[in-house]
Amino acid sequence: MNLGETIKKGKRPFVIAGPCSAESEEQVFLVCKEIAENKSAQMLRAGIWKPRTRPGSFEGIGERGLEWIVNAGKYNSLPVTIEVANKNHVDLALKAGVTSLWIGARTTVNPFAVQEIADALTGVDIPVMIKNPVNPDVSLWLGAFERFEKVGVTDLAGIHRGFSVYNHRKYRNVPSWELPIAFKEQRPDLPMICDPSHITGNRDLLYEVSQKAMDLDFDGLMIETHPDPDKAWSDAAQQVTPNQLKKILDTIVLRSSEFSSGVAHDIAKIRTQVSNLDDQLFDLLSERMSFSEQIGQLKRENNITILQQEHWRKVINSRLGKSDEYHLTEKFVRQLMDAIHQESIRHQTAIMNPINKING
Ligand code: PEP
Ligand code: MN
Repeated sequence: MNLGETIKKGKRPFVIAGPCSAESEEQVFLVCKEIAENKSAQMLRAGIWKPRTRPGSFEGIGERGLEWIVNAGKYNSLPVTIEVANKNHVDLALKAGVTSLWIGARTTVNPFAVQEIADALTGVDIPVMIKNPVNPDVSLWLGAFERFEKVGVTDLAGIHRGFSVYNHRKYRNVPSWELPIAFKEQRPDLPMICDPSHITGNRDLLYEVSQKAMDLDFDGLMIETHPDPDKAWSDAAQQVTPNQLKKILDTIVLRSSEFSSGVAHDIAKIRTQVSNLDDQLFDLLSERMSFSEQIGQLKRENNITILQQEHWRKVINSRLGKSDEYHLTEKFVRQLMDAIHQESIRHQTAIMNPINKING
């Protein structure tokens, strides 16, 4: 199969479902049968070699799971995919007849491992999906694709599974949507799948993240699905039953990425107004910085420090207090004011110490 074409030309979203880990032949078969029968997914996933954060947790059923997955897929007419992390995994997966492979987030971070897998696939025509690295680095993610393309593996897709953070109050891995968006800017040709299971770590949040991915024009979803999620041997809190998966998918509202010509005209008109406002915003910012330079000049002449802590505290607090009035979040007001303040300090520093050129 050509996965890229199937995803791009088929109905959106292309859904990949199945357990975090293959646990038994019955479990894999049951999930596969149910997602095929309720038509919630177009591909079966299951992990047999699990990259666990700490040793001692379930590290996967290993090689014997290959047969369960391949057979379940054949019987239920679904293509299947597993995670591979080294050459040995690749060789075993190819021998067993697995339809497609994915590279896990902890593998994408390591160019040696990615190269080893790519080399093992030289001359093999098999689709490969590449999860983003656990750290927010778009180049590293793009580089992994290039390693496969260099050895002739060109049927590729990306999987966005969020990025590691310490103790986030909502997500297991923060989505940082700007990264997959930046990726898509560079590689609009590649399908992009979202993995809300690993982003959220929580089945109650799967719907909202899936909906968001669809609104950002992602092509597909990978959602961990288990016959009895609470008893799963890994990632129990984020897995759902095939029935629950179907409900989540049925609730998603799919919006078109193309405008009808009437709407396109209305939107173009408003975009012009937005663009005019952006022009004014930047003119204002530029003018504001020239005042900062005048202040910098006076501070220089009078030997006063650039940062005036007490003044800045008043300025920022007064703006934050008006967030509601502006209909802006406090977080946005804080980020914007910080950025303006940093730029203002840069202009003043250039005046104070002329060696720091304004545009340097
Ligand atoms: C998985 O898909 O089960 C998995 C281990 O994911 P990730 O590589 O995104 O952590
Ligand atoms: Mn998992």
